[in-house]
Amino acid sequence: MTVISDLVAALTSEKVLTDPDVTDSYARDRTFLEPGRPLAVVLAETRDDVVTTLRWATGHRVPVVPRGAGTGLAGGATSVEGGVVLALHRMTAIRELSPADEIAVVEPGVITADLDRAAREHGLMYAPDPSSYEISTIGGNLATNAGGLRCVKYGVTRDSTLGLEVVLADGRVMNTGRRTMKGVTGYDLTGLFVGSEGTLGVITAATVRLHRAPSVYPATVAAEFTSLGDAAAAASAVIAAGCRPSLLEMLDRTTLKAIDDWRNIGLEDSTRAMLIAQSDAADGPAVAERMAELCTANGSPFVAVSSSAQEAQELIGVRRMAYQAMERLGKCLVEDVCVPRSALPYMIEKIEAVAARHDVLIATAAHAGDGNLHPVFIFDHGLAEPPPSVWTAADEVFREALEVGGTLTGEHGVGLLKRRWLSLEAGPVTEEIQRGIKRVFDPLGILNPGKAI
Ligand SMILES: Cc1cc2nc3c(=O)[nH]c(=O)nc-3n(C[C@H](O)[C@H](O)[C@H](O)COP(=O)(O)OP(=O)(O)OC[C@H]3O[C@@H](n4cnc5c(N)ncnc54)[C@H](O)[C@@H]3O)c2cc1C
Repeated sequence: MTVISDLVAALTSEKVLTDPDVTDSYARDRTFLEPGRPLAVVLAETRDDVVTTLRWATGHRVPVVPRGAGTGLAGGATSVEGGVVLALHRMTAIRELSPADEIAVVEPGVITADLDRAAREHGLMYAPDPSSYEISTIGGNLATNAGGLRCVKYGVTRDSTLGLEVVLADGRVMNTGRRTMKGVTGYDLTGLFVGSEGTLGVITAATVRLHRAPSVYPATVAAEFTSLGDAAAAASAVIAAGCRPSLLEMLDRTTLKAIDDWRNIGLEDSTRAMLIAQSDAADGPAVAERMAELCTANGSPFVAVSSSAQEAQELIGVRRMAYQAMERLGKCLVEDVCVPRSALPYMIEKIEAVAARHDVLIATAAHAGDGNLHPVFIFDHGLAEPPPSVWTAADEVFREALEVGGTLTGEHGVGLLKRRWLSLEAGPVTEEIQRGIKRVFDPLGILNPGKAI
């Protein structure tokens, strides 16, 4: 424990927690994974606290697991035995918000939706909006390159990131990128750090891009379908027609049933899928009517189009309830494959076939406009981890996604959960180069060891 007393002496006991009952609540993310016991949790309030922690960790060779809000779904923030959890949720300053340059400089603990709300006071918005945007942090979003509902139009977190302030493993502070809209000086270290899951350095600030906020609430369409295939075909038709939706989401029957059992949304027996689309364009209501027509043309027996902001929010509210509704059914292995958009109907069919073949309950929600599917494998609450049938089914889904030119993870990251499939996608040369990059930034291997690569 003398190791920890050095850290306490440098940071004070208010910022270094060691009581196991308390540290345990910082050791997990939203997966079922059992964490290793941390030596301590550091509650960082400033960049200097992060510098002090990393210098100490390098000096004592102690692993460090950066943590935002712990909403991750891949095990990235799961603590490591004998390591330190570096919690960043107290670093919540918005250091700057410039309407003239349409940028903000924010600390990692800012809640995603809080940044969006701050931007809206100036007629701007922060576009990346993971479904968890009311509970996740910008630091976690950056480290996982989070997606969200609006990324079909505005791109993922990386597309909104211009520059970063990062503390390296040995405590040095590095600034990457820029605050301009363009710039090609040197290698793109900002792009490298976004999505690096806390394995290369700790992000202590980010310069992010803001967009003009739409002046009215996006016009919203919710269409019911009697088959998932029809819903997927309608999603493809909406894209092909050039509607440029600002959101295009799909829910399957199992997901809808879970939401209906919880919140009674009046689900019809014949409904097998729902497509929810929005347009935030100036002619949004006309685009919404066009998207509704395309849904009808692709077999939807019932389409609702919002006529007010409140109705629009109610329609999209169904999508935002999905994950909590599924969690009521059992423990969840939330998967995240992303396939070329054209392969979406095929992939959905395959997931349904895999569920039937292995008798596994799979609820699928998809960011249909991005080809990003979340098949959620649901298993008994009483089990510590998924039974073999779930892993076999997940393995088949991953292989199918790769077969059609897709990827293992569209937005949640590799974390711990997907490492065993990595070599199928990356191949030996890419893996070797990635390990080399890791060695450059973290020669002692103390930053979030065992994750991501
Ligand atoms: C209900 C629900 C809905 C979700 N919907 C979406 C969605 O639509 N899209 C999506 O992409 N994800 C979604 N997620 C997953 C999760 O919210 C995102 O991965 C989010 O980006 C994690 O943020 P966090 O602050 O909770 O990070 P954490 O879970 O604490 O950490 C995630 C990873 O980032 C690293 N990290 C955190 N902060 C830093 C930092 N400052 N510097 C370096 N590394 C850091 C951690 O070590 C870990 O590897 C959802 C999760 C839930 C529970």
